[in-house]
Amino acid sequence: MNFSEILKPIVEVGILATGIYYALKFIRGTRGAAVVTGFFTVLIVVAFLATVFKLQVLTWILSWFVGFFAIAVLILFQPEIRRMLAELGTNRFTVSAHQQRENIETIIQCAKNLSDDKMGALIAIEQEAKVLETCSAPGVLIDCVASPEMLQTIFFKDNALHDGGVIIKGDRIMRASCVFPLSQRQDLGNSMGTRHRAGLGLSEETDAVVIIVSEEKGFISYAYKGQLVTRVSEEDLRGFLTMIFVPKILPINKKLWFRGLLAKLGLRSNSAEEAVPQPSREKKEKRS
Ligand code: ATP
Ligand code: MG
Repeated sequence: MNFSEILKPIVEVGILATGIYYALKFIRGTRGAAVVTGFFTVLIVVAFLATVFKLQVLTWILSWFVGFFAIAVLILFQPEIRRMLAELGTNRFTVSAHQQRENIETIIQCAKNLSDDKMGALIAIEQEAKVLETCSAPGVLIDCVASPEMLQTIFFKDNALHDGGVIIKGDRIMRASCVFPLSQRQDLGNSMGTRHRAGLGLSEETDAVVIIVSEEKGFISYAYKGQLVTRVSEEDLRGFLTMIFVPKILPINKKLWFRGLLAKLGLRSNSAEEAVPQPSREKKEKRS
């Protein structure tokens, strides 16, 4: 047995394991996950029986079925696939880092003020995928420059637009009072009501970054790529938004860089302290 014969199965198993790992990561927490898991289980059992008992007709039917399954996956995961393709074409460097920092500060200031006053808010920062296309109610067109004051006004309890979510694109508030898709996740705690579910749901279907302020408890959370990180501090939020929108100015710190990479791959833990890169003390001082 020569070296390439030994290497071949190792490479094959490696590629297969990586493929299965990413496929599972891709469907985890999505609406179609239960369907795909059930279907795969049935497929494996039937394939096993067909092989053991040498059932040729069943084997032949199964080989056809795999083709149909691929089409079914495309239909089931259409929003996720769209999000993935949109991400591939993203060019984050068209807006200056300075402008992005300003936009981030507007959101942070607004979230902080609303959190202090215990006013509920749901803010989607649109990237490539169109948030409006996923809304079951399109809300009201605003199209004005985003400012903490304007956002606070929208979410003020007696305002006619305070219910639902706001869509922000760049430095502009595009819409308010939008109804976002609700996440179907079963593993969310009882304290997570529809506002948090809507934030998470939108992040599952688009590449938007969603900021949620709890009216009941006043804490700030964010959702991105189907991950919800709750009870984040102002600094947590700044670190996260900077990582997403201003990648070029990330501090060169191996630990932070690695955490950022994990977050981008969606492998980040759900705990805020673990998940969010904390800007170093030195950086914080420079900023203030
Ligand atoms: P909170 O911590 O603020 O109470 P919650 O996660 O417990 O948030 P609810 O108490 O159910 O959520 O919040 C209800 C509010 O969430 C609604 O009044 C509305 O403003 C908003 N909301 C609910 N569903 C959606 C949705 N699908 N899209 C956008 N906003 C929504
Ligand atoms: Mg509630």
